[in-house]
Order: sequence, then C-alpha cells, then structure tokens
Amino acid sequence: MLTKGSKAYSIFKMKCPRCHDGDIFFNANPYVFSKFGKMHDRCPVCDLKYDMEPGFFLGAMYVSYGMAVAIALPSALILSIIFDDLKLYQAIMIVLAEIVVLMPILYYLSRSIWLNIFVAYRK
Ligand SMILES: [Zn+2]
Repeated sequence: MLTKGSKAYSIFKMKCPRCHDGDIFFNANPYVFSKFGKMHDRCPVCDLKYDMEPGFFLGAMYVSYGMAVAIALPSALILSIIFDDLKLYQAIMIVLAEIVVLMPILYYLSRSIWLNIFVAYRK
C-alpha cells in the first residue's frame, strides 16, 4: 500500500506529490515543535512549488476539519457506548482533548492530502 507511486505513500511519508522523493516538511515528525509546520518552498528534488498560489493551503483547513469530524464522531459514539453514565460535557471534553492532541498530525496530513489532490505523480 505504501509503495512509491501511490498517493498513500506521498501522503503518509510527507513526500512531494510529483516525484515522491523530496520532503514536504523540514521534519516529518509533527511533534517536533521547534520545526512545527515549516515547509520547503519548493521540492528539493524536482523543484515543484508547494505553495502554488497565495492562500493555497487554506483549502487544507477543510481537509483538516473533515478529518477532525471523522475522528470526533466515532469517538463520541464509542464513548457513549462504553460509558453509560458519561455526561455530555465530559464526552465533549474528552473528544476535544483527543482532537487537540492529534492536531499536529491532522495539520501535516491535511497539507499533504491537499497537495496530492492537485498534483499527480510523475516518474
Ligand atoms: Zn518533488
């Protein structure tokens, strides 16, 4: 599944969507906060410009939002099934904490997915 040439490879390895060799971020680990969110302007290998137009990555917010909802709703459902006496505010706090902890991953993945929507792989 994570073989070079597949979208999943580029998305999860945080590689350039065109060549699958160059890194998108300076550090692919989203929990290294000293370099959090720092992206290369262009692919170091094939010179693809990542920020293709002003505000290009605003669209990644929608991807991030979708992923957060896709995590929050099943989490809330599972919490309500496991803990019968859980109050609504407690469930909301748990789900919010989960989203906050996962936010760096969602941020990186959403940008990687957003790039992969618009750029195809070329050998
Ligand atoms: Zn590249």
